[in-house]
Amino acid sequence: MTIAETTVFEALESNVRGYCRSWPTVFDTARGAWLTDENGKEFLDFFAGAGTLNYGHNNPVFKKALVDYIMADGITHALDMSTVAKRRLLETMRDLVFTPRGLDYKVQFPGPTGANAVEAALKLARKVTGRTTVLNFTNAFHGMTLGALSVTGNAAKRAAAGVPLVHTTPMPFDGYLDEPEDFSWMRRALDDTSSGLDKPAAVIVETVQGEGGVNVARSEWLRTLSELCSARGILLIVDDVQMGCGRTGPFFSFEIAGITPDIVAVSKSISGYGLPMALVLMRRELDQWAPGEHNGTFRGHNTAFVTAEVALREYWSDDALERSTLAKGARIHDQLVTLTESFGGITTRGRGLVHGLVFEDASQAEKVCQVAFELGLLVETSGATEQVVKLLPPLTVSDDEITHGLGILARAVEIVRDGH
Ligand SMILES: *Cc1c(COP(=O)(O)O)cnc(C)c1O
Repeated sequence: MTIAETTVFEALESNVRGYCRSWPTVFDTARGAWLTDENGKEFLDFFAGAGTLNYGHNNPVFKKALVDYIMADGITHALDMSTVAKRRLLETMRDLVFTPRGLDYKVQFPGPTGANAVEAALKLARKVTGRTTVLNFTNAFHGMTLGALSVTGNAAKRAAAGVPLVHTTPMPFDGYLDEPEDFSWMRRALDDTSSGLDKPAAVIVETVQGEGGVNVARSEWLRTLSELCSARGILLIVDDVQMGCGRTGPFFSFEIAGITPDIVAVSKSISGYGLPMALVLMRRELDQWAPGEHNGTFRGHNTAFVTAEVALREYWSDDALERSTLAKGARIHDQLVTLTESFGGITTRGRGLVHGLVFEDASQAEKVCQVAFELGLLVETSGATEQVVKLLPPLTVSDDEITHGLGILARAVEIVRDGH
């Protein structure tokens, strides 16, 4: 392999950089499920910007709309002024996302990152309820700002905050304990005035924990959580930043459970094109913000609104994408099961087009990712001990690309396990 010229990154870019260490090359162009480095080597992308590129890199439909908009001098930056692009987006969200699902949400545009959406959701829940405590779950990941970190599990990420992360209480996620998680502790603690648990403003949950190791919550578990919250006036926040926009099949990952969260955080794939954008969706009655109470300079990233609107029209006017995601996911699941059967010490779990290969010997997961990279496949690890190889291909991935990617993955596992 040609050694990549990376001197300037090492000399100048902060040590905080991460993914470039796992994938030591210099990427140049991308299209669909493929990235190409500056030496012309191609990599199949089963990482998809950690779930930001559900519709692939440089999707030609979005690209054309974006270029046309820019060439017509469409507004790029507008704080939260009203623009034609934003109006189109809101109307399309209403017509294609909310109305067909019977959702009566209002839409907040926070700063354009997942963490900013989570911060806004937490602030709003505390403001509306007048309570401070938020319940979160083991292995949760909600972003790297202080509020988002306070509801995140990972000890190393939490430690980097440098201040105490307070006013949150972790609860066991589905599958965390050996016995089936049935909320017996949480329910008891909420209803017992002597449990020491302050009545929370909200519970924040991911339906599938992506960073936490592809931990999939059962629908019945999510339903029980939702009922538990609503019966006690506790707001349910679903962080759909990574699992939303079709990753698990339906547009929202919680649809499968038949629940309606009070607040939803959306980001990553919402712009479709990989342009920064985030949304907070809230039940109409909860929209108790005063004007400007949560603001930010980049809330009006109108080029992202343009591609977001096109993405909704292109992929969410019918259920074709949802059906193809579920079909491709089932195929991947079957092949991963076959793979785990031929090697001991590995299991698999997932939903839709997010899948994990869980290694009993955690160190093997990282090695598999390294070998996969050398063989031309991008996959990353996740989980408490980085014990899970996470597969997150674009939803638009083709059957041939799935076969190709899983072939590389199987080969990488073989090399790591058998040394040849
Ligand atoms: C990525 C992610 C975030 C944080 O989003 P940023 O844009 O990195 O701030 C929050 N929650 C979940 C579930 C995520 O996957």
